[in-house]
Amino acid sequence: MSTRKKVHAFVRVRPTDDFAHEVIRYGDDNKSIDIHLKKDTRRGVVNNQQTDWSFKLDGVLHDASQDLVYETVAKDVISQALDGYNGTIMCYGQTGAGKTYTMTGATENYKHRGILPRALQQVFRMIEERPTHAITVRVSYLEIYNESLFDLLSTLPYVGPSVTPMTIVENPQGVFIKGLSVHLTSQEEDAFSLLFEGETNRIIASHTMNKNSSRSHCIFTIYVEAHSRTLSDEKYITSKINLVDLAGSERLGKSGSEGRVLKEATYINKSLSFLEQAIIALGDQKRDHIPFRQCKLTHALKDSLGGNCNMVLVTNIYGDAAQLEETLSSLRFASRMKLVTTEPAINEKYDAEANRSLVNYDPMDEIQIAEINSQVRRYLEGTLDEIDIINLRQIQEVFNQFRVVLSQQEQEVECALRRKYTFIDKNDFAAISAVQKAGLMDVDGHLVGEPDGQGFGLGVAPFSAKPGKKAKSKKTFKDQLSSSARKEGASSPVGGKDLDVSISKTQLTPSSKDGDVKDMLLRDRETSNIEPPSSDSPKEELRPPRPSTPPSKPVAFEDFKNERGSEINRIFKENKSILNERRKRASETTQRINAIKREIDMTKEALNFQKSLREKQGEYENQGLMIIDEEEFLLILKLKDLKKQYRTEYQDLRDLRAEIQYCQHLVDQCRHRLLTEFDIWYNESFFIPEDMQVALKPGSSIRPGMIPVSRIMSLGEDDQDKFSQLQQTMLPEGPDSISFYNAKVKTEQKHKYLKTMMGLQQTQRK
Ligand code: ADP
Ligand code: MG
Repeated sequence: MSTRKKVHAFVRVRPTDDFAHEVIRYGDDNKSIDIHLKKDTRRGVVNNQQTDWSFKLDGVLHDASQDLVYETVAKDVISQALDGYNGTIMCYGQTGAGKTYTMTGATENYKHRGILPRALQQVFRMIEERPTHAITVRVSYLEIYNESLFDLLSTLPYVGPSVTPMTIVENPQGVFIKGLSVHLTSQEEDAFSLLFEGETNRIIASHTMNKNSSRSHCIFTIYVEAHSRTLSDEKYITSKINLVDLAGSERLGKSGSEGRVLKEATYINKSLSFLEQAIIALGDQKRDHIPFRQCKLTHALKDSLGGNCNMVLVTNIYGDAAQLEETLSSLRFASRMKLVTTEPAINEKYDAEANRSLVNYDPMDEIQIAEINSQVRRYLEGTLDEIDIINLRQIQEVFNQFRVVLSQQEQEVECALRRKYTFIDKNDFAAISAVQKAGLMDVDGHLVGEPDGQGFGLGVAPFSAKPGKKAKSKKTFKDQLSSSARKEGASSPVGGKDLDVSISKTQLTPSSKDGDVKDMLLRDRETSNIEPPSSDSPKEELRPPRPSTPPSKPVAFEDFKNERGSEINRIFKENKSILNERRKRASETTQRINAIKREIDMTKEALNFQKSLREKQGEYENQGLMIIDEEEFLLILKLKDLKKQYRTEYQDLRDLRAEIQYCQHLVDQCRHRLLTEFDIWYNESFFIPEDMQVALKPGSSIRPGMIPVSRIMSLGEDDQDKFSQLQQTMLPEGPDSISFYNAKVKTEQKHKYLKTMMGLQQTQRK
C-alpha cells in the first residue's frame, strides 16, 4: 500500500562573516556540498590522503530564514501528521552550529522562532480547517542527560509528584515513557506555555543541576488523535511528531576531558553512535534486528526512527574553515542518514468501544490513565472547561482519578502544613497556653497577625483556597496576569517574601509588600517601563540594621539592571517594545476591520436600495440578460472589493494575535529570568556570608542564591526557622501566593541544600 521513502537530509549552514569559500562549495541544484582542501591546509586538519569529498543531500540551507527552513524541512511532515503519519525531525551537529536555533529558535524575536512553535501553530491551524474531526493534541518534553530521563514539564502544578524514576516501556501501541507527563492542549496558546515552561526548565536545570545543556538530547513530542465527527466510525487515527534537538556531536577527547566532562563525553559519543548504528541498520534492508535498546535515546525513539515515519534530519554545520573536521564528520552522518528508507503508514486504530454497549473492557494502559489524571487535575484547577465523555470505561476512570487526585491533594496539604506548623490539639489546654504565653496566639485562639476567621494550623486548607481556581477557562488578561504571578512566585523561590524573613524574633508585624520588586514588575506589565521604586517604601523600616547594611531591594534592582542584569533587561525591554508595537498594530487593524465592516453594511444597504428602485421601476430585460444601471454595478464591485479587504485584514489580525501571544510569553519569560537572576545576585551579594559562598560553590549542585536566605541563615536554629516560617505565612498575600508547587520547589531545594551542607560538614571534619 505505502511506498518506501527516503529519509530527507538537509544541511543548514550557520551564517558567518568568514565563510570558507575556498573549501566549501554548493552544487548548482543546491543539493550537494563539495569539500575541497588544498594540500597545504590539509596538514593538521585531516590526516588521511583524501582532499575532496562530495555529499549528496536533499537540500542545502544557506542564509536561509527560519521561515524558509520551516517550509522546506517541517511543513509537510506536520501536515501529514494530521493524516496519521508519524513524523520525526532531528537536528544534529556540533555545539554552537545552530541546532537549538533551528529547533526552538531565538527567544528574543518572534520572527526568529524555530520549528517547534511553528509546528504547534500549524497543527492548530490545520485543526481549525477540519471541523469534521475531533482532534486532540497533547505534548510532552523529555530531556535525556547522561542516560537519565528528565521531564521538562514536571514543574507544572497539576503534574503529580513522580514517585518512581521514568522508564521506557514498550507495548503493542508503541514505545512510551512511563512517568513522563503528557499535557492535553486545546489551543495554540496553551501549547506555547508548555513550550516556554520546558525551555525555562531547560535553562534552570542547567544552572541548578550543573548540567551542560549542550550534552543533553531534548525531545518535544506532539501527539495527535483524530476521530471523525461525521462518521460514527470505529476507526480513528493517531500520530506522533518528535522534534529532537540532539546533543552536540563533537568528538571529545581533544582537550583532555576528565571526570564529569569525560563521563558526559562518553555518554554522548555512545548515544550518538548508537543512534548512528540504529540508523545504519535501518538503512540495510537485509537486517531484521535493529539495536534500539542500546541507549535511552534510540530506545525512546524506537517507533519514531525509520519504520513507518516521515523522517527529516537537519545537519547543522559551521561555514568556517576552522571547524572543518567536525563539519566533515557531520556531513558524513547526514549522507549515511540519507540511505535509510522508511515506509510511512497511517496509524489507524480501532475504537473497540465505539459501537458496543456494556461489555468487558480491557484495563486502561498507563498513558491513558495518566492522561485522564491530568484532565481531572486541570478540570479541578479550572484550566479545562469540561471533560469530554468518550465511553463508559473512560467515565469510570474519570471518577477514579477524581478520587486519586483528591486524596493526593489532601495528603499534600497535610504534609505541607505539618512541615510548617506544629499541630496543637484543640483540647490540649496546656499546649495552647504555652503558645499563648510565647505570644504566638491571642486569647481567642487566633494566631498573631492572622486575619479574623482565617485560622491555619488547625485544619486542612479548603480546596477553594487552591490557587489557579477559575470560574471559566477562557483566560482573561487578568487571569493570565495572576497565573503568571503565581508561576513567578513559584519558580523564583527567593522572592521578596523570603528575604523579609530575617527580621528579629520579636517583630511579628506583617511586612508590607509595597516596594517588592516582583510586585513592581507585575504592575509594570500595563505600562512600558520598569519604574524605579519609591525609596521610602515601608519595607525599609522593617529591615533590621545589619552590620553592613545592604541596599534596599528597589535600589539594588536598579543597580542590577545596569550591571549584571543589563543584557537580560535589554532583551526584556526590547521584547516589550515589540509587544507594544504589535498590540498597537492589532488595535489599528481591528479599527480598520470595523471600518470596513461598516462600509460593507452601508454598501449592502445602498445596493438593496438600488435593487428596490429597480424593482419599482420595472426591470429592463434584454435577451434574457438583466440590465442593471452603472451605479448598482459599481456598488457590487465595491462590495466585492470590500470583502476582499476584510478577509486580508482579518488574516493579518489573526497572525498579529498569534504573534502577540508569543511575544507576551517572551516578555513573561524575560521578566521571570530578570527576577530570578536578581534574587540570586542580591542574596549572593548581600546576605550569604562570603565564606559560606566559597564553601558552597565547588562541586555543589546548587547556587547559594537559589536557596531562600531564611533557610541559610537559620539552618540548624530550629527556633528561628519556625519563626521565619510563621512570618512567611503572615504576609498579607494570603493563600494565593503559597501554591503547592511553591512548597514543592522549596522543599526540594531545602533537601538539596541540606545534602550539600552535610557533605560540606563531612569534608570539614576530615
Ligand atoms: P547548538 O544548539 O547547535 O549548540 P545554537 O542553536 O545554540 O547551537 O546556536 C549558537 C548560537 O548561534 C546562538 O546564539 C544562535 O542564536 C546562533 N545561531 C545559530 N544558527 C543561526 C542562524 N541560522 N542565524 C542566526 N543565528 C544563529
Ligand atoms: Mg543547543
